[in-house]
Amino acid sequence: MSEFYVLLGVARDATEAEIKKAYRKLAMEYHPDRNPAPEAEARFKEITEAYEVLRDPQKRAAYDRYGKAGVGGAAGGFNFHHVDLAEALNIFMRDFGGLGGLESLFGGGRARTDARRGQDVRVTVKLSLADVAAGVKKTVRFKAPDRCTNCQGTGAKPGTRPTACGTCGGSGEVRRAARSMFGQFVSVSPCPTCAGEGVVVQEPCEVCRGEGRVRAEKTVTVDIPAGVSTNNYLTLRGQGAAGPRNGPAGDLLVMLDIKEDDRFERQGDDLIFDLPLSFSQVALGTTVTVPTPYGEEEVRIAPGTQPETVVRLRGRGLPVLGQNSKGDLIVRVHVWTPERLTAEQERLFQELAKLEGEPPTRSPGFWSKLKEALGA
Ligand SMILES: [Zn+2]
Ligand SMILES: [Zn+2]
Repeated sequence: MSEFYVLLGVARDATEAEIKKAYRKLAMEYHPDRNPAPEAEARFKEITEAYEVLRDPQKRAAYDRYGKAGVGGAAGGFNFHHVDLAEALNIFMRDFGGLGGLESLFGGGRARTDARRGQDVRVTVKLSLADVAAGVKKTVRFKAPDRCTNCQGTGAKPGTRPTACGTCGGSGEVRRAARSMFGQFVSVSPCPTCAGEGVVVQEPCEVCRGEGRVRAEKTVTVDIPAGVSTNNYLTLRGQGAAGPRNGPAGDLLVMLDIKEDDRFERQGDDLIFDLPLSFSQVALGTTVTVPTPYGEEEVRIAPGTQPETVVRLRGRGLPVLGQNSKGDLIVRVHVWTPERLTAEQERLFQELAKLEGEPPTRSPGFWSKLKEALGA
């Protein structure tokens, strides 16, 4: 889980100032307007992603606890996603004002997004508490463009091939060198002829009309880990819409809709179950059956149990997301008083009333001492 820290070259307990400083240094080195090496852009995105999480105390705490793992942690509704280049450039610009104001001189700060990337698709899956307890595989069906099989996604009529773009020579980019008092700059922009694809289709495929993708219904099986909550979502890389002409596919974002279970109240990984018992049951002690997400379980109620006593069934709550542990099932005892008595019941209660004596004198701390003595 130290990945983000390693990327920025900072210690796990680094201060916000140290994180900011480390990021700025690396960003100046890998900013794609400064560093023309092909791997610089990917590196820039990675360090920005790490910075964006670690600079925010809430996201950082969630990351320390859960890692990214494709699932946002429950804490603070932190949803992790990969940043694209445009976002990364904006983040850098937001916090550091860009490359020392140079782009304002050179019309830079280009917000280049990958026009060839397919759309992200969002779907919602419904889950029951039992699904959350055990983890579940769900099959989702959705409409999204898929690669055209007639042209293998190229957009060119079968038997023909897209040809290399004459303007950019197939690179998809036009580079211009500009000289300034600060030194030489290389400005890169998408080729206007081929829109950055590097190729042009002379004879379009008849099925997709040159798009390289067609309308389709997709079926994807989603593995939902145990312990998720409503503010988590899963990102399935490349499972969204196909990009035009074999461009990279978008992502599938799986939102979770967890149906409440009337039997339990969920508190993070713990579940609360309210157990009503009669006066005789708490006075005499009893064994009752309570539901858990893993089946029913017997609970022993000690003689003399006081109202609002809590019995904790360790490890019978929900799994902790991404960890091999479970929360508890908390059984709250309530004492039920009969509202209407039959003649026979009333006679017996009268009899009992003669024998039961006075309740103990109330003094501060009496109830807590009593509960302590009972081990509740
Ligand atoms: Zn086609
Ligand atoms: Zn071109």
